This record gives sequence, C-alpha cells and structure tokens, in this order.
Amino acid sequence: MLLHEYIERISRLLDSEARLIGSDYNLQPIQLNALNFLNRANRYSNTLQGVTAYLGLTKGTVSQTLATLEAKGFIKKIPDKNDGRVVHLNVTRAGQKLLSKAMPSATVQSAWEGLEDKEQKQLIESLKQLLTTMQKINGMNGFGVCGTCRYNQKIGEKKFFCELTQENLSQKDTELLCREHQLAC
Ligand code: SF4
Repeated sequence: MLLHEYIERISRLLDSEARLIGSDYNLQPIQLNALNFLNRANRYSNTLQGVTAYLGLTKGTVSQTLATLEAKGFIKKIPDKNDGRVVHLNVTRAGQKLLSKAMPSATVQSAWEGLEDKEQKQLIESLKQLLTTMQKINGMNGFGVCGTCRYNQKIGEKKFFCELTQENLSQKDTELLCREHQLAC
C-alpha cells in the first residue's frame, strides 16, 4: 500500500536524522528520543515506566538510557511530593536547549516550511485522523495530547480538570502527552 510505504520511508528518514543529530551531542537516537518524550510528557508520564511504555523497550535498556541522560545533565530526578514511590524525570535547561536545536531536525523544519499554511493544516488534520483511527482499531489509546482526552474538562478560562486523576490541569498541561489518555468519543 502506498500509504504504508510513505510512512515507513518517513520513519526511516527520521531515524537516520536522529542518528545524525545525536552524534553531534554524543547521544544515541534512543537517548535523544527519550529526552524528547520527557520534554513533552505530563506529570503522570515523565517516569521510568512512562518512558518504557512510550518507547516500547525493556526497563533495563530504558534505565541505562536515562542514566546517560542524567550523567550528561540533560534530566534530573525529582521525587513526587505526594507519593514517595514515584520519581519524576524533569528535563533540565541544558536538555531543553539541546532539544530546541535538535528537534525537529533542520530537514523536517525545512520541508515543513516549504508547505503552504493550508497544506500544513490539511496534513496535520489527516495525520491526526489516521492516528486516531489506528488507535481505535488496535485499542491502544495511551499517550495522546491531554487536550484531546475524554477525561479533560474545561472548568474556566485556561483552567481544566482531569476526571480520571481528580486533579486540576493548567493550559500548559493540556498540551502535554499523557499515558492515561483516552480518546474522546
Ligand atoms: S485528562 Fe486525560 S490526558 Fe489529561 S491528565 Fe487526565 S487522563 Fe491524562
């Protein structure tokens, strides 16, 4: 199928871009991808378990990846205020600086900027629809953007509430990835 070929080819190109960019910072693509995920993950997802589930790798591999990121000063472990068993992995300023240079890659950025506004909107809409449909078919709803979740309720100007965790959410929270995400019907 033509669609599959395009997605696969783009995916391979992104992999090779990540390898190239990572080499500039002495990072493997997996380390760069983990860092990028943590920068976009919410407080329920920026943990060892969250990274493991998102990348679909073993806990051992992810632990090593995170240890490297921590040793290089790109992430910092912060214990949860309410639950001593949970440790959050926060991206440091150095990590954010790296990501702002590396993600998206110059190639992706340049290809994106070559599209008209209308084409960009259409492409995003089509990809969103494709992802949503695929998630519905295979039942894997996790890791969506909070603002599109069925549990997300708007309770005021720039104020939101998570019906699952029973906690308030900020505007910024609604833009982050969450492992508990459930698509709105
Ligand atoms: S509303 Fe959904 S996506 Fe947002 S924090 Fe709650 S469970 Fe996660």
